[in-house]
Formats: sequence, C-alpha cells, structure tokens
Amino acid sequence: MTRPPLRRALPALVAATAVALTATACGSTSEAGTSSAEGSVVTSFYPIQFATQQIAGGKIPVTVLTKPGAEPHDLELAPQDVGSMTQAKLVIYADGFQPAVDDAMGQVDAAKVLDVADSAQLTLTAAEEDSHDHAGESESDHAAHSSDDPHFWLDPQRYSAVARAIAARLSKDDPANAATYSTNADAFVGRLTVLDAEFEKGLSSCGSKVVVTSHAAFGYLSQRYGLEQHGISGISPEAEPSAAGLQQISDLVRKEKVTTIYQETLVEPKFAETVATSTGATLATLDPIEGITSESAGKDYFEVMRSNLAALEKGLNCR
Ligand SMILES: [Zn+2]
Repeated sequence: MTRPPLRRALPALVAATAVALTATACGSTSEAGTSSAEGSVVTSFYPIQFATQQIAGGKIPVTVLTKPGAEPHDLELAPQDVGSMTQAKLVIYADGFQPAVDDAMGQVDAAKVLDVADSAQLTLTAAEEDSHDHAGESESDHAAHSSDDPHFWLDPQRYSAVARAIAARLSKDDPANAATYSTNADAFVGRLTVLDAEFEKGLSSCGSKVVVTSHAAFGYLSQRYGLEQHGISGISPEAEPSAAGLQQISDLVRKEKVTTIYQETLVEPKFAETVATSTGATLATLDPIEGITSESAGKDYFEVMRSNLAALEKGLNCR
C-alpha cells in the first residue's frame, strides 16, 4: 500500500535558530525588496489570508507570512518577513498562535494591526481540552504565550465572527470601498452558514462522538457539533506525546471502540500510526486547514472542510 508523501515539520532547532536571527535583525526594516509590502495587507497564516482575500475581493493586495506547506505553529520569520510587516498597510494575525509573529509584532505600529483573537472568542484553553501527559514539552514552548486554543477557523461560526471583524477594519481603513467589503463579507459569511448547517446535519446522529486526532486542533469544531476530541499531541503538533500519553490514548480507543484515528497533512503521522497499529484502528485524514498544499483534499477552506465532514461521517459511523 502506498501513501502520499508527507512533509515533515521543521526540526525545532532550525526554528529556534531562525527566531534568533530574526531577533538580531530587530530595528533594521530597510532590507531590499520589502517596499512591495507597502499598501498591502499582510496576514499571518492561511485561514486569515483566505478570509481577507475573499473580503478584499482584489481591492487590496493580500500576502501571507506562512508559506503554503509550512506548519504554522512553529513558523520562523526571515528579516524580509518582519520588514513586510512593518511596511504593510495593515497586519492581521491571531495573538497566541504563532510565537514568531507575536514576537515580531513589537516592531509593528499598533495602529496598523488587527488581532482577530478577540473576535474569535477563544474560550477553550490547551489544558481544558487536552488532559494528556505533556512530560516531553519544554516550559519555554508555551510559558511566554497564551494557552488559549487558537483553532477558531474550524468552527464556521467563530470564523464568521473573524470575517466580520476583518471586513469592519478594511472598511474603516478604506471607506471608499466599504460597500464592496460589506457585500463580500456577507457572501463569505453566507457560505460559512451553509457549511455550518451541513456539519450540524451530518454529525447529528453518529455511532460515536469520540474523535482521536493527531494534534488537538478540533476543539471548537468538536464543541460546536457535540463531539469529544482527544488530541494525540497537544494544542501544537510540536508537543510530542509521552509513552504514557500514547498508552492512555490507545486505552481510550479500545474502551470507546474508536474505529478511526485521524492524521493530518502538514505533520508526520508517526504517533497517529502508532496508536492505529496498537489498536487495530484505521487511519484517515482530518485536515486542520493550517495551510493548503497539493496534498490537501481540496483547493480552499470550503472544499477541505467538506472533505473533513465526509471523513468524520465515515469514521464516526454517522447516518
Ligand atoms: Zn494547530
């Protein structure tokens, strides 16, 4: 049996080195090639980029800091990236998701920043939804940052609220095009409302409610549709599970008769495979949509979400 090639998450050492390089570049915002960022909106990662593009409708150039195929939690920023942030018309990000972006934000004019974390209503924390052993996780990974679960976009209602906030800000900054932004936001939220109804219906009557995922990205989705998420890794894929944590998950899989373990596209599936192998469960893909690549089951958020719904309906034995 063959499997599509999977991208490996960058080793933490490389990320740490890059962060250090970025830090030493603090204050030098005049690198060549950054002037193209002037007048554009810089977004931190795919779901924010996608919503902003849908709402801007081509009226403003929209760029993204997290390159397609890169795992966004441990993003590293090059000096040019920080330069593009300082020169942008507006930077849109979610505080507490990407430490490198949070750190660089100190150099950006606060008047040119939109943090969507507030409108996303991040009511879940890492501890609440992920009680597994995190012995392997270093203090420095999370100590300096919020422990809120950032994965708001996997709940269409939270994503709608973020889209409204983006539209309001674009309209405020560019009143001449406010009507366009408002119309585009209505259309985008309308599509999210349809998607929300499809999830509600599709997951209303399932044989199981227990969703075992690669990393704990589906807390808001699970809360919205009455499912129970257990992430093998924590809120970030970098937080590797301990042997005891893996055992605990495997015990749960047997006890709850879970038939499907969900892996994802941007992170190597070794822990998901371990649990599947030890329990006899099947592997399927549930995509946290932290980036779209050629391996994604769809070309945009909506297509991949519908693929996720199909994977959940199958794995949870929904009628
Ligand atoms: Zn994630």
